[in-house]
Amino acid sequence: MRIRAAVAESPGAPMTIEDVELDDQLRDKELLVRVVACAICKADLLVRDKRVPFPLPAVLGHEGVGVVERVGANVDTVNVGDHVIMTFPNDGTCGHCLGGQPRWCDAGERLMWGGTRFDGSESALKRNGKALGGHMFQQSAFATHVIAIEHNVVVVASGLPLEQYVIGCGVMTGAGGVLNTLKPNADSTIAVFGAGGVGASAILAAKMSGCRQIIAVEPYENRRDIALELGATHSIDSRDHDVAEQIRRITGGGADFALCCAPDEKVLSPALGALAAGGTVGVIGDPGVGIDASFEISTIIGVGKTIHGINGGESVARNFLPRLIDAHQRGLFPFDRILKQYAFDDINTAISDMEAGTVIKPVLVM
Ligand SMILES: [Zn+2]
Ligand SMILES: [Zn+2]
Repeated sequence: MRIRAAVAESPGAPMTIEDVELDDQLRDKELLVRVVACAICKADLLVRDKRVPFPLPAVLGHEGVGVVERVGANVDTVNVGDHVIMTFPNDGTCGHCLGGQPRWCDAGERLMWGGTRFDGSESALKRNGKALGGHMFQQSAFATHVIAIEHNVVVVASGLPLEQYVIGCGVMTGAGGVLNTLKPNADSTIAVFGAGGVGASAILAAKMSGCRQIIAVEPYENRRDIALELGATHSIDSRDHDVAEQIRRITGGGADFALCCAPDEKVLSPALGALAAGGTVGVIGDPGVGIDASFEISTIIGVGKTIHGINGGESVARNFLPRLIDAHQRGLFPFDRILKQYAFDDINTAISDMEAGTVIKPVLVM
């Protein structure tokens, strides 16, 4: 079938919306989804810029929502007409999936970044007869239609305004890093490094957890202001030379938790320095493959600090996304305040607004 899709040609280049071919002969576990909307996440830009290995030119996008139009063979839990949020893919069959940690799925890397279909065969996307990279997170949802899989969708009530619930990656990851991994309580103090889509969602989750102090560390002033509106009790310019000292002063000795949401290896050291004894740093933001971070080892040993890597907010999406939707509907998790909608055709404006820091999370409405 012919679809419209945004093609990323090369690092830094604008995307071009074109008619491309999608091989819609569905295979086992595949679904054809009409995309209603897709948010833009930092990872899309890292892929576009070749900081994550992925075949370009390609169709990106991995925070899609839409309506299931057809299902392939052996799809047991999704039906034609279902409204779905697309999220991280997994195979549903490996030890980690069966053990309740689908975010660590043995096939996860290939299904997210391999550029191939669920069965491992070449991309279903073609332009002028030549294969295009696709299937990012088994979506590539900067497009009017995608081939998704049974194990990357969460079915939601059909009455929901779907284009609002583009929560399958950044929002889930930031909220999950707080609610599933760090699990702070009303007595906790937490510093969140980076107040983009992931960090802002983490701040909302920290507020929902009742945290006593929530410190947003962020270079853009407008994002610091929004962080304060969302529930941060303090904000710090991440370019200050004494970020760790400021956090220790605010918290009276150090924060219980720090969450590194910015994809920047330089935030790990101040995050560790900001912790109280026994504190934990969660590392969410991935600056790309091959990038090391450094910190002074003796500073974590003497006072028992922990570094915890977090993928996808350690979420079981089919349990966690309905919880976030419910919290949103009760007014406890107003993540819609960080979204801004754009027409699909305006994808390059949306990307440049995000890169300039004037918009936290753009949403393309197809
Ligand atoms: Zn698995
Ligand atoms: Zn993402």
